[in-house]
Amino acid sequence: MNGGTSLAHASERDSEEHDESAIRDRNREPCPICGQTGAREWLRGPDRLHGRQEQYTLLRCPACFLVWLSKPPKAAEMHRHYTDAYDSLISAGGENSPGRWRDRNVALAPHKQSGVLLDLGCSSGAFLQSLCGKDWDLFGIEMSAESAKLAQAKSGANIFVGNILDAEFPPSSFDVITCFDVFEHLYEPRQVMTRIAKWLKPGGIFYVLVPNVDAAEARVFGSYWHGLELPRHLFHYSPASLKFLAESAGLCQVSLETRRNPAVGTSLRYVWDDVFRAVGIRRTPVAYRGEASLPWRAARKLVRMTILRALLAMAPIVGGGESIHAIFRKKEDSQ
Ligand SMILES: [Zn+2]
Repeated sequence: MNGGTSLAHASERDSEEHDESAIRDRNREPCPICGQTGAREWLRGPDRLHGRQEQYTLLRCPACFLVWLSKPPKAAEMHRHYTDAYDSLISAGGENSPGRWRDRNVALAPHKQSGVLLDLGCSSGAFLQSLCGKDWDLFGIEMSAESAKLAQAKSGANIFVGNILDAEFPPSSFDVITCFDVFEHLYEPRQVMTRIAKWLKPGGIFYVLVPNVDAAEARVFGSYWHGLELPRHLFHYSPASLKFLAESAGLCQVSLETRRNPAVGTSLRYVWDDVFRAVGIRRTPVAYRGEASLPWRAARKLVRMTILRALLAMAPIVGGGESIHAIFRKKEDSQ
């Protein structure tokens, strides 16, 4: 009896010691952008898109407010998390949204209308294709050889296949560098931002889009927020941390705003997946589910008209819309 109790106590002690040592480890993990120690746990969550159970921990820097994935999967293991189902979802999203690319052209136009443009993580080239026939000399960087081939065929752009940091462009090569929904996937954001600053011509523009970890929807849904994309998103930016990163590489902010990204339905699906799991029903994970059924689409519409409206009303007070659209410029007098 006593033995059992002391074993239980020993095991509690072990677990407390384990927790304490995990906290100590994290406190030693300095911020990858500003180097500050004392990061706090922001939240824990699994890869809900694929319905996996492994838990990941996000830390937040107390100085620059960057949020990052503690102990991310190694690059060589990352292919397990970028499944074919994920790739299909991403390319379907890109191909089916001509309005999205039009909006980005409109946002770019007041700053540059011609020149040499590089799109980082250009996927199958939908954005580059939207610039065809205008006065642009187009370049892209893409990890997937298959997507790069498609991008080249569609846009005529010159595509480098591989990591951004392995591409070798001379300094001051580009008038514009764009990076849409890619920066949050990078292992080395500080080095990439420095490289962008080097590749831009003086006065050149960097146009970047990332999810906003401080968005109203992110705060409401916590680990269920679809924008977390654990463990594929390695860094999670707020307007303040993105600005800090760009400025520390020598770029100046031209504009930075948050916009609504109407995907609240995915976050809700994640909540329902857990509700069903709690009563023993395992639903097909979102990555493999295909087009939503009619009742589900109707439910989503209802949510858009109720919860989403409330979120929108709250957004200006509690951190803005779900995606950050930012334009930075390299100073005219820099090298
Ligand atoms: Zn920091």
